[in-house]
Amino acid sequence: MSFEKLNLHPSILANIIALGYKTPTPIQAQGIPVVLKGQDLLGIAKTGSGKTASFVLPILNQLLTVNAGERNRQPRVLVLVPTRELAVQVAEVFKELSINLPQPVKSMAVYGGVSINPQMKAIYGVDVLIATPGRLLDLQGSNAVDLSKVETLVLDEADKMLNLGFQDEMQEIFERLPKRRQNMLFSATLSDQLSGINRVLLLDPVVIEIEEKVDEVELINLSGYFVSDDRKGPLLRHLIREQDMKQVLVFTSSGLKADKVAGKLSKNGIQALSIHGKKSQSARMGALDKFKSGELRVLVATDLISRGIDINELPFVINYELPRSPKDFVHRVGRTGRAKSEGLAITFVAREETHHFKVILKKMKRYIDMIDSETLDF
Ligand code: ADP
Ligand code: MG
Repeated sequence: MSFEKLNLHPSILANIIALGYKTPTPIQAQGIPVVLKGQDLLGIAKTGSGKTASFVLPILNQLLTVNAGERNRQPRVLVLVPTRELAVQVAEVFKELSINLPQPVKSMAVYGGVSINPQMKAIYGVDVLIATPGRLLDLQGSNAVDLSKVETLVLDEADKMLNLGFQDEMQEIFERLPKRRQNMLFSATLSDQLSGINRVLLLDPVVIEIEEKVDEVELINLSGYFVSDDRKGPLLRHLIREQDMKQVLVFTSSGLKADKVAGKLSKNGIQALSIHGKKSQSARMGALDKFKSGELRVLVATDLISRGIDINELPFVINYELPRSPKDFVHRVGRTGRAKSEGLAITFVAREETHHFKVILKKMKRYIDMIDSETLDF
C-alpha cells in the first residue's frame, strides 16, 4: 500500500513526502478511505501508530474538495483534545500538512492557561479549530466562535474526552454543534464506557481496530524493579547514570512528587525539570519543548502528558510510581516505541503493589521478569 493509492490531492501528497512518511500505517491505510467517503469512524490503534495523520490527511482533502464559501468565525472542522500540549501538537501536524495547498487551509489551536484575547482575534477565518473543551466554551460564550457550521468533529484520545472529567463540557459543546456532521473517534484504549457513548455520538460508524500481529516485534520493551519508596530516588539516579540515559521521561502520580523528584535529580547533577497541571503554561511548554528537542535530559511528569504527546524516538520511560489505571500505564509507556522505533519502559514497584502491577500487565498481555533492587549495588 502506498500513499499514492489513497486518492489524496497531489499537493497533500507532496507534504507527506516532505515529512518523510513513506508508506501509510495500517490505521491510515484503512481509515483514510472511510473518512474520504464521509462516513463516521471509530479508530482504535496502538500508541504511536499515526492516528493523527489518519484524520488530518482526509480532512484536508475534503476541505480542498468542498468549498464552503464565506465564513468568519465558523470553523468547518473541530478537533477536541484533552490537554493544551496535545492541542498545540495536533495543530502543528495540520500546519505541516497544509503547506502550499491550492486553497489555503487555516488551522489553529485554542487552549487555556494563556490569555484569551489573541485567540479571539486569530479565530477569524479559521477552517480547523483544535481545542481543549474549557477554552472552547469560553470562546463560544464570548461569541468569538460559532460552532453551528462544523462539518467534521474529531475526538482524539476519545475515551479520555468522553469520561467523567469532561462530561459536562462535552455535553455543552455537543449542543452547539449541528446535528448533521461527520464524527471520528480515535484512541489506543477503548473502554466499555466508550462503546456505550459512541452509539450516541456516531452514526452507523465504521469501526477499525488494528490488532497487533502476534509475530510483530514488540517495540516497547518492559522491565521492572522491586524497590521500596526510600530507595526509588537512588535507583533512578543509578539507572540514568549506569545506562547513560540521555533522554528519559519519568512519571509520578502527583505534581508535588514530580517537583520533588526533579529537584532531587538536579541537586545530584542530573538536569531535570517537572511538568504538571499546577505549573504556568509557559513553564509547561518551555519544559516540553526543551525535552522534545533533546536539550533537557529528564522530564518528570504527571499523567498530564501521558496522552498523545509525540516525542521523536524517545528511548526511555520510567514509572517512578505506578498509575492507578492500566489504561494510564498503556499511555505512559506508549510515549516510547513510536513510529517503528524501539524503547524501554521501566517500572518501579513496591512489594505491596505486586498484585496491582500484575493486573496491569495482564491487561496488556505482557509479562516481566522483575529485578529485585536489593540485589543491586548502588
Ligand atoms: P498516535 O496518535 O497513533 O499515537 P501519532 O499520530 O502521534 O501517533 O504519530 C506517531 C509518530 O509517527 C509521529 O512522529 C508521526 O510523525 C509519525 N508518523 C505518522 N504516520 C507516519 C507514516 N505513515 N510513516 C512514518 N511516520 C509516521
Ligand atoms: Mg495520538
